[in-house]
Amino acid sequence: MVAEQLAARGIGDARVLAAMEVVPRHRLVPASLSAEAYADEPLPIGHGQTISQPYIVALMTQLLAAAPGDRVLEIGTGCGYQTAVLASLVREVCTVEIVAALAQRAEATLAELGVANVVGRVGDGRRGWPERAPFNGIIVTAAPRVLEPVWGEQLADGGRIIVPLGGRYEQWLHRFIKRGPTLYDERLLAVRFVPLIGGTTDADGVG
Ligand code: SAH
Repeated sequence: MVAEQLAARGIGDARVLAAMEVVPRHRLVPASLSAEAYADEPLPIGHGQTISQPYIVALMTQLLAAAPGDRVLEIGTGCGYQTAVLASLVREVCTVEIVAALAQRAEATLAELGVANVVGRVGDGRRGWPERAPFNGIIVTAAPRVLEPVWGEQLADGGRIIVPLGGRYEQWLHRFIKRGPTLYDERLLAVRFVPLIGGTTDADGVG
C-alpha cells in the first residue's frame, strides 16, 4: 500500500509514509472487511459511513503538515484510522464523532492498539471543540457545504484546516492557513466524501 498507492503517487513526507506503514489498517476496519483493508478504495464502516481510501488519508495528513508537538482536532472519527495515523505524528488528537456507536467502537479499538494520546467525544463537530482549543491543525473527514467560522476561531496562529467543501456531487479539498486574523484558502483537488451531518442541505433536497 505505502509503495504502490502512496509513494508512487507523490506522497513524499517520510513521517506520513512511516505512520501509514505502522498503523494496522486491518485492525480498524470492520472485522468482515479486514482482507480488503489495504485496497485502493474507501470501505463501508456501517451507519452509512466510509473509511477513506488510503491515498486520501495520506494526502490530508501530508497537507496538515503537523509537527510532533502539535495538537490536532479531527472532525469525523469514523473507525479511528485517520485518528491513529495522526496520533502517531502529533502530541494529542482530539476527535469528535456524531454517531455514538462509531465513536465507542473507535475508542475501544484505539485502546486495544495502545494509542494513548487521543481524546474523543460524541457530538457535532460543526461546533469544533471550544474547551480544548486552540489547535495547530483541524482535519474534517466529511464534507460541509462551507467552512464553519468557529473552526477558524479555534485554530492557533499558523494553523491549518484540511477540509472537503461542497455538495453531494461536487466537492473540492481545501487547505486554509491562519496568519494573524486572516484565513488563506487554497482549493486543491476534486474529491468525494460523505456529507457532514447537520449541514445545510443541497438545493435538490439530497444530503
Ligand atoms: N476519518 C474516518 C472517516 C470517517 S467518514 C476514518 O478514518 O474512518 C466521516 C465520519 O464523519 C463518519 O463517521 C460520520 O459519522 C462523521 N460525521 C458526519 N457528520 C459529523 C458531524 N457533524 N460531527 C462529527 N462527526 C460527523
